[in-house]
Amino acid sequence: MSEYDAIVVGAGIIGLATAYHMKKTRPNDRILVIDKMSGAGQGNTAKSAAMFRSFFYSHTNLTLVDTTVEFFKHLHNQLGYDLRLKWTGYLWLFSKPQYSAIEPVLKSMSEEGLPYHIYEEEELADRLPITTKISDDEEAQKMKLKDVDRAVFIPKAGSIDIDALVKFYETEFKRLGGEVQFNTEVRRIIIEPEEPLGIPDEPFFWQDSRAAGVDTQRGRLLAKKTVIAAGVWTNMLLRDIGVYFPMEPIKRQLFSIKALKPDLRNLLTTKGFNSEGCLPFTILPDPPIYIKPALDEDAFWFSFGDHFPRAFKLEEDPQPEENFYRYGIYQVVTKYFKQFQDAHPYSSWAGQYALNTIDGQPVVFEENDLLVVGSCSGSGNMKCDAVGRIGAALYDNQAHASLFGETDFKVHDLSLTHRSVDLEKLII
Ligand SMILES: Cc1cc2nc3c(=O)[nH]c(=O)nc-3n(C[C@H](O)[C@H](O)[C@H](O)COP(=O)(O)OP(=O)(O)OC[C@H]3O[C@@H](n4cnc5c(N)ncnc54)[C@H](O)[C@@H]3O)c2cc1C
Repeated sequence: MSEYDAIVVGAGIIGLATAYHMKKTRPNDRILVIDKMSGAGQGNTAKSAAMFRSFFYSHTNLTLVDTTVEFFKHLHNQLGYDLRLKWTGYLWLFSKPQYSAIEPVLKSMSEEGLPYHIYEEEELADRLPITTKISDDEEAQKMKLKDVDRAVFIPKAGSIDIDALVKFYETEFKRLGGEVQFNTEVRRIIIEPEEPLGIPDEPFFWQDSRAAGVDTQRGRLLAKKTVIAAGVWTNMLLRDIGVYFPMEPIKRQLFSIKALKPDLRNLLTTKGFNSEGCLPFTILPDPPIYIKPALDEDAFWFSFGDHFPRAFKLEEDPQPEENFYRYGIYQVVTKYFKQFQDAHPYSSWAGQYALNTIDGQPVVFEENDLLVVGSCSGSGNMKCDAVGRIGAALYDNQAHASLFGETDFKVHDLSLTHRSVDLEKLII
């Protein structure tokens, strides 16, 4: 059986970006990407809201996102890949107490040169058909909703067509000679002794052992390096061989509302914030439900990342919950935006975040010829290129990765043993 230089398990955005940069770095290596699904990007990548914002307090987050967003721009503007980038901006709505708490963080970000614009309540109400004063509403009080005091507009932010990005990485990886195989489910990672002695049940604890490839329902695939980029499924493979990976799967749901009525159309086409002439991606005050302008389908997407008591549990086919919309999202959104009264989702879906519950940042490490890339915690699309380059640098035994724009990044900063990441203070 022929041995690959590397097998990448998972053709999501992270596996593909990693494989593409591995192949670019080592063009003569034989690299195979496999996925249990019938095509690329059909896991949680396909479920995503595909938003990005180059605006983070944490230097780690900012570097990973900003270099990735610059790469998107480069592909789109210089290389002519139509990624359907939409520069909607993010409009973050804050109550008075929230804003007081976040103000010092914003100030230090401004000193770092990150651009944003603050709208006072009055100016915001002039530009946006929103109800900012809701605190005398009895239901709003019951839900502990707060008046909107200010809004922060972040211009370097928007959405991408994630399928187009998946296509870019897959096509270019194959063009470089990379191989892809779908409908191939990994059942386990093969562990072999470095120096086989032919003893039953080896390797024994006194032998040095390594990951030697994967067993799939279509047979064995051997490789010098095995790269696991299986998103929320990663621990199904790693736990069996005692490799720790900090990641918990958690359900996230999206509900799409068509802009059928004139007042919804007016809201969707709100002018004065961005070059798209549309409502920015808007985040409500606590609870921070978000509203994405889905311009291509004349719709709004709603979502909210709930925590306690939402289970950490892997779900093969997570379903959206009708009551999560009806008694949750709908009740809150309609207090601020009356236009959504009686609006029902015309479609909805659910996926899962691969949440790093320790520090919310991606994890990239290698042990015993096994590389692991993931735990992207709900921001894998906007960090994919940087994470892919870091994974590829690790594969190439480099201590430093060169992110887009020749930004240097220490590979070990995302590892578990030498981890060094800045914590985020600006959390949605
Ligand atoms: C509702 C929702 C909204 C989101 N919104 C955003 C957003 O706005 N912006 C953003 O940046 N991120 C967002 N994300 C997060 C983003 O989608 C993820 O971080 C990203 O897609 C993770 O990519 P991945 O390649 O790690 O995982 P996946 O896309 O899930 O890929 C993993 C792949 O591994 C394959 N696989 C798993 N196990 C096996 C096996 N045993 N054998 C073979 N193949 C296997 C799967 O089939 C899958 O294709 C969102 C996620 C969700 C769920």
